[in-house]
Amino acid sequence: MQILSPRDVPLGGVRAMNVRRTLPQRQRTFIGAWCFVDHYGPDDVAATGGMAMPPHPHTGLQTVSWLFSGAVEHRDSAGHHAFVRPGEVNLMTAGRGISHSEYSTPDTAVLHGAQLWLALPDTYRHTDPGFEHYVPEPVSGDGWQARVFLGSLLGSTSPVRTFSPVLGAELRLQAGTTLQVPVDASYEHGLLLDSGSLTVDGEALKAHELGHLEPGRDTVEIVVAEDALLLLLGGPPFGERIVMWWNFIGRDHDEVAAYRAQWQHRVDGGDDDRFPLPTDDPMDPLPAPALPHVQMLPRG
Ligand code: MN
Repeated sequence: MQILSPRDVPLGGVRAMNVRRTLPQRQRTFIGAWCFVDHYGPDDVAATGGMAMPPHPHTGLQTVSWLFSGAVEHRDSAGHHAFVRPGEVNLMTAGRGISHSEYSTPDTAVLHGAQLWLALPDTYRHTDPGFEHYVPEPVSGDGWQARVFLGSLLGSTSPVRTFSPVLGAELRLQAGTTLQVPVDASYEHGLLLDSGSLTVDGEALKAHELGHLEPGRDTVEIVVAEDALLLLLGGPPFGERIVMWWNFIGRDHDEVAAYRAQWQHRVDGGDDDRFPLPTDDPMDPLPAPALPHVQMLPRG
């Protein structure tokens, strides 16, 4: 198992809550189509300000929001206004372009969860923007409970549409449990441990680490030493190279630079077909950072 350790990153916005980012990093770009893993909290919102992300753009990806506690208000330029709550998945398809905002709600005292991105395959990356909300029915057994928000696992299947085969599930495991999880042998997997202590196929995983497993196994054995909460992610190796910069995914430097220019035109008050703004948003759109001085190279 490859262990990916988190780095602390201040989330952009007016006030900056820190998140733990385990993907991407130098040694890994993808786990299946998963290309971005931010994990945060439990965060005392009174101290950190919580989540305050003014309207910002995305291209070529889907965002997957999953909370353990607290609530986030979402608005996007495709006309969706929704609340993200624990146990409920919100999946936003950016496709050719979208903008959205995310604010923790005023009644949120503790914010705790993850934001994950799926890269869209080249065939589908210019698709229409969209949004889906789904509340998986928990499935459980001796010492375990699972909420499968994307794909299929342990007898539960999510109806939420993705553009490549994907697995996303929350697992709550009791100390002393040994769970054999049947998985698709063509998938690679990632286990993001929020809390607790366990081993995965005999190897220890610590809280806040993301463990990566190569394809080629049809079960994953989890032995739980202390009550554990984790996310299990998976998918077949993505097989494409991408340029991911700020909130954009493209295939080369010039494409991403063009997205940035279009968004900045919008921020500066211009009209733009790719990036409309959410209606009735309380905050101004977030300017993009400066492009790097070096040419960005595709990674895979
Ligand atoms: Mn976003």
